[in-house]
Amino acid sequence: MTANSHNYSELEKRWNTLAQKMGWHITTLYRESDYPVLAIQNDAAQKSVSGGFYLSAGVHGDECAPVWALLNWAETNGSSPTLDDRPLVILPCLNPHGLINNERLDSQGIDLNRNFQNADHPLIKTWQDFLRGRQFDLALNLHEDYDSGGIYLYELSRNKSLGDRLLAACEEIIPRDIAAEIDGTEMVNGLLKRTDDIERIAEEELGGWPESIWLHLKLSTDAFTFETPSEMDLDRRIQAHLRFIETAIQFQNA
Ligand SMILES: [Zn+2]
Repeated sequence: MTANSHNYSELEKRWNTLAQKMGWHITTLYRESDYPVLAIQNDAAQKSVSGGFYLSAGVHGDECAPVWALLNWAETNGSSPTLDDRPLVILPCLNPHGLINNERLDSQGIDLNRNFQNADHPLIKTWQDFLRGRQFDLALNLHEDYDSGGIYLYELSRNKSLGDRLLAACEEIIPRDIAAEIDGTEMVNGLLKRTDDIERIAEEELGGWPESIWLHLKLSTDAFTFETPSEMDLDRRIQAHLRFIETAIQFQNA
């Protein structure tokens, strides 16, 4: 799939090539350790601030499968008629320093996924400004977990739960982690759906806001955080993320 899964220059080059081919707009949100943090939008996302999809990977740099799966998905499906004219916003890798160095934290030693409320962080400030006033039908936050033995999903939604069906679509590639916990909360068959008390949990239990919680509470968006076990074979992890993205978008279009 890729010669070096931590090669950010290769990632950046392929996103630039794809964006040019598709006529997508690339913005540099911030430069982290000399590497640009890119945000990509299609035409529809520039014309409309509501609906469509937000897809993000690489918030934690030691979780590389989602980064390549997202690129692979976009290279294969970017021109798909199922996307039609729906807004598409992609954050290909929010933590280039982490990806290059195979580290969870950013170059300041900060866990971005506990700081999406923190406008004192220059990247987060630009990211918040970039998204303010938008609302998506669906946000996918792609992650990995070195403690887990299988896939699991964290669902923040005001609608009928799709989580179990999403996991069902991916479990033939990697089985569910049926013993998974998120921050001390037990999951049901690899799924945790939260509807209440979310802000308190972010502040008191997590010590800061993950990307999904900000998207859900501030942009009224259904947000799904999908995790694969980072000790497993890379290609399998990439395939699981690809299946997850494809299925989640299919369900939205159904
Ligand atoms: Zn993560």
